[in-house]
Amino acid sequence: MSDKFSAIVAEEIDGRTVASLRQLTLADLPDEPVLVDVGYSTLNYKDGLAVSGRGRICRTLPLICGIDLAGTVVQSADPAYEAGDRVLVNGYGMSELYNGGYSQKQRIKPEWIVRVPEGMSLEETMAIGTAGYTAMLCVQGLQDHGVEPDSGPVLVTGAAGGVGSVAVALLAGLGYEVHASTGRIESEGDFLKKLGASELVPRAELARDCKPLERETWAGVVDTVGDKVLATAIAQTRYEGTVTACGLAGGMDLPTSVAPFILRGVTLRGIDSVMASQERRQRAWDALADLIDREQLREIYRVVPLSQVLELAPRILSGEIRGRMVVDVNA
Ligand code: NDP
Repeated sequence: MSDKFSAIVAEEIDGRTVASLRQLTLADLPDEPVLVDVGYSTLNYKDGLAVSGRGRICRTLPLICGIDLAGTVVQSADPAYEAGDRVLVNGYGMSELYNGGYSQKQRIKPEWIVRVPEGMSLEETMAIGTAGYTAMLCVQGLQDHGVEPDSGPVLVTGAAGGVGSVAVALLAGLGYEVHASTGRIESEGDFLKKLGASELVPRAELARDCKPLERETWAGVVDTVGDKVLATAIAQTRYEGTVTACGLAGGMDLPTSVAPFILRGVTLRGIDSVMASQERRQRAWDALADLIDREQLREIYRVVPLSQVLELAPRILSGEIRGRMVVDVNA
């Protein structure tokens, strides 16, 4: 049997970063303790940049691209893992500083690993991806601060986006009254209602200069937008409510005051998925396994073979692709 396997490798050629489909051997992989037979990865905007050699994503070359992976352990020098364990990795700088998931085999660090929950397929983990896992971290951020379904309405901003739409579905599934804020009510309103939003809030109602305190409305907020939208959401948060902030789709600023924090006891909880602890990650993935609606999930992604990634990368950058793409590295 051949010990060669396929991988998409970015390397420097004449001063440019060029990615190609290559045949590698185990000797080409990094010297990390856990060897994995990779099943799936994903194709995201960041992968599009890396594979097209744009945006300086790969900070060391040559490097195997792909920001995440799901697969089965073949061999482990770390006793915590053994052959047959189903594992996934996202974040931690794969495809930036470390070799990534566009490879039929990969060696990875044990401290990066999340165990794929019972009953969840490798393909499903990659369909959920970083966006879905970040949404779960946001939901758990609210739960950890005591925001319960009967606490009152919960606002999700940037609701039609990758993180926002999963947050809407998860919160609705848990029984929260979800108000979804979007700039695309006409095209995405029905979709958000189908995910479980009970009310739609036009983005313009939040993307404005707000007063330090406005009418107490939200028991909790999942914000993916930042800037004025986040400031208004904070100003409208109820006494001792919680706002989780994970994104900056609308900008980096936060034009707010201390009033909501010192007069209403509002909590602003930051959410980071990239360096989140292994424990926090595992908790989020285990909860996703219980909560995710598999039928709904199937509608939002398609599976593409590794060989098509080179052709799809520039197309994701030019906005021609809708929905999530899961990469089958063995197809
Ligand atoms: P998407 O691009 O899928 O969605 C972002 C959404 O934000 C859009 O769909 C839109 O929602 C809204 N939006 C876009 N531009 C603006 C604007 N100028 N003003 C107001 N709203 C806007 O991104 P993701 O959902 O994948 O990610 C959301 C944010 O979270 C990003 O900033 C991303 O970088 C960040 N992120 C952070 C992570 C972390 O670890 N903290 C992990 C993953 C993502 P609509 O059309 O409904 O208005």
